[in-house]
This record gives sequence, structure tokens and C-alpha cells, in this order.
Amino acid sequence: MSFASLGLAPALISAVTKSGYTDPTPVQAAAIPAALKGMDLMVSSQTGSGKTAAFMLPSMNRLAAEGESPLQGAARRGAVKVLVLTPTRELAQQVSAAARTYGAGMRRLHIATVVGGMPYGAQLKSLSRPVDVLVATPGRLLDHVQSRRVDLSQLQVLVLDEADRMLDMGFIDDIEAIVGQTPAERQTLLFSATLDGNVARLASRMMRDPQRIEL
Ligand code: AMP
Repeated sequence: MSFASLGLAPALISAVTKSGYTDPTPVQAAAIPAALKGMDLMVSSQTGSGKTAAFMLPSMNRLAAEGESPLQGAARRGAVKVLVLTPTRELAQQVSAAARTYGAGMRRLHIATVVGGMPYGAQLKSLSRPVDVLVATPGRLLDHVQSRRVDLSQLQVLVLDEADRMLDMGFIDDIEAIVGQTPAERQTLLFSATLDGNVARLASRMMRDPQRIEL
């Protein structure tokens, strides 16, 4: 199994190859082709499994498939195409860094990071134009959504990274409020160490016929 055989755009294949990845990890080999078909996914995954690329590559493939032209024309400032929710600032920053690495061969790609405990200045600036990929923690994102600085009405892909940790940290109401601002026809990719209990309940409310991937 190679990255080229998964169905990814050439710009993404060349970026992962440049990162030194030779073969997809098991979670990537299972999740990437399914996500590229547009399916909703619930994936059980641990840190270190390669889960970040498993959701970032197919999500960014949509942007590449659009001819690498980010939201333009009618698109408004703060309008987001791909949203990744993470439980912590540190994880958000790691995911953003990964997205920049994978997007290195894509032109005009705008990636923004919105996290709590950080000054608003740089975040406001990054939201002053359309956003291809927004990586965010739920509380601060909801603040920006309610202040209409972030527009989720054109969202294509929603990723919940470490969903179990977000629930453990009490983000359920924020997540529900955020999801309520997104189109029903979005694709939803949920990654979590566990897929039972509260995570399963959350998934049943916000996913359509998800494929479960448990390795
Ligand atoms: P993650 O589980 O997403 O936190 O990734 C763990 C580490 O594995 C990160 O340092 C990635 O850069 C690296 N990684 C992800 N996918 C691959 C791959 N296919 N081959 C080699 N390293 C990878």
C-alpha cells in the first residue's frame, strides 16, 4: 500500500513523501480511502498512530480538488471550508503545523488557528479573510462564531479530534452549538481513543450512517 494508491492529489502525495513518510500507517490506509468517498467516519485511534494525517489529508484533498483555489468571490471573511476541533491548544498547534506541512504544495492555502488562552489580535487578523482550514478549541471558536467573526455556513468537512477528551473536558455544549451552525450535508470525521458511551451518543446525533474503523 502506497500513498499514491490511496487516491490523494499529487500535491499531497508529494508533500507527505517530502516529510519522509514512505507508507501509510494502518489508520491512514483504512480511513483515507473511505473519507475520500465522502463518508462519515468514526475512527478509534491513539496518538502516534498517524491519525492527524488520516483526517487532514482527505480533508485537504477537497481543497486540492477544487483547483487549489480557496473560497473566493462571494466567500466572506471568516468563512471556513474545513474545521478541526481539538481539546487543547497544544494539539491545535500540532494539527495546524501538520496541515501546513501537507499543504506545502498547494497555492493560496489559508490555515488559521483559534485557541483559548491566547491573545485575540492575531486570531482576528487570520479571520479577516476566507479560511480553508481552521483548527480550533471549542470554547474560543464558539466565541468567534457568536461574534460572527467565523462563518460555518459553507463548511464542507468537520473533524472532531480526540473526541473523548473533548467530552471529558466538558466541551459537549460548545460542540453542539458549533455543529448547529454547520450545514447538514457536511462530512464529519470523528477520531477518538474510545468509540463507546458518550462518544457513541455524540456520534449518533451528528453523523450520518458513519463507517466505524477500529484497528
Ligand atoms: P499522530 O498520530 O498524528 O500524532 O502522528 C504521530 C507521528 O507520526 C507524527 O510525528 C507524524 O509526522 C508521523 N507520521 C504520520 N504518518 C506517518 C507515516 N505514514 N509514516 C511515517 N510517519 C508518519
